[in-house]
Amino acid sequence: MENIDLHTIDKKYYLPTFNRIPITFLKGSGSRLWDIENKEYIDMLAGIAVTNVGHCHPKVVKSIQDQAAELMHISNFFVSPMQVALSELLVKISKLDRVFFTNSGAESVEGAIKIARRYAHSIGRGGKIVSMQNSFHGRTLATIATGQPKYQEGFAPIPQGFVQVPFNDLDAIKAIVSEEIAGIIVEPIQGEGGIRPANKEYLEGLRKICDENNIALIFDEIQSGIGRTGNWFAKDHYGVQPDILTSAKGLGGGMPIGAFLCNEKIANAIQFGDHGTTFGGNPLAAAASMATLSAIVEENLTQAAKEKGDWLMKRLNELKEKFPVIKEVRGLGLMIGVELTEPALPYMQQLLKEGVVANATAVNVLRLVPALNISKTELNSFLKALEKVLKMKEGEKNGK
Ligand SMILES: *Cc1c(COP(=O)(O)O)cnc(C)c1O
Repeated sequence: MENIDLHTIDKKYYLPTFNRIPITFLKGSGSRLWDIENKEYIDMLAGIAVTNVGHCHPKVVKSIQDQAAELMHISNFFVSPMQVALSELLVKISKLDRVFFTNSGAESVEGAIKIARRYAHSIGRGGKIVSMQNSFHGRTLATIATGQPKYQEGFAPIPQGFVQVPFNDLDAIKAIVSEEIAGIIVEPIQGEGGIRPANKEYLEGLRKICDENNIALIFDEIQSGIGRTGNWFAKDHYGVQPDILTSAKGLGGGMPIGAFLCNEKIANAIQFGDHGTTFGGNPLAAAASMATLSAIVEENLTQAAKEKGDWLMKRLNELKEKFPVIKEVRGLGLMIGVELTEPALPYMQQLLKEGVVANATAVNVLRLVPALNISKTELNSFLKALEKVLKMKEGEKNGK
């Protein structure tokens, strides 16, 4: 079978929400992927910052296999050893107090919004949620209400009680602070929006405003968390602690699991029955997550992300000197954006031909979020392919 065969069938059945690339992947190992024609790829996307410990990490595979044979699901009416272990570990690494498990990023953000509102309600404040322009928090109704207008088109009525302000602009927040606001949600590094880090003074300023007004500060670390930036969470680089934190993507090493965490102050506003989930944090998902986090600790992958990220950024900046089409290289650890002076999609497509999986986001940005344990050899292969593509595109332009 060829890549195109299944793509043709898929096109007939799958709701046309994704403009799928005609490649069918059959196998993955670490940062390598193989398609149905047995072509090998270097994976610089990791399933959109999901497989942080690489594809099919043996520990994660074994943990899932063992747990699947033991007990997969019991509902959250009961206690499961894997979930308890995961709760304890997540509370420890986030330095927050309480956790709730979900099945996705958007669900984590929905939960974060709900508990921020519940807390605001308990102290007599309004329920408005402030989010940032160019942000991304998911595709459910409430999360599109926090996000970019392009995702809201045609889905009216959009849920009420959401306000948007420019990112990295403290004055914009100061101008709208009122009793009506329950929470402020921000990505410490905007992911989908083109890998744009928040300024330190900005997050510190938000913390101060939230403290002074009893507003819940929510960090969405769904993309930036779980070791990706060289720390457990991007917030650790800033030294700013949120009241609520959302996680997902890398949390399960490929298994769908998300979480939101909060401090005791917020947790005190929650009572039995205020929120719920059937699947969230079930033994199988929790087993995958525990194995993923353990692998990050045992293999020192936060440090690896930092070192490899710094090294890769340096190499990319060298390419920037050679190729004027590269406008800026930015990011933290292995969450890197290469902003071009033109759309990144043709570059991404050419990279695929060269055997590299990457992603184009925010039109002009090539997004690089590989597994934290990607090797230097693999990164070098990627850089070689990228240089080749840059040369080819430059040649095309000069030929015109
Ligand atoms: C991907 C992402 C989400 C949404 O997660 P889903 O699992 O797709 O619902 C939310 N916030 C951020 C910052 C993300 O990167």
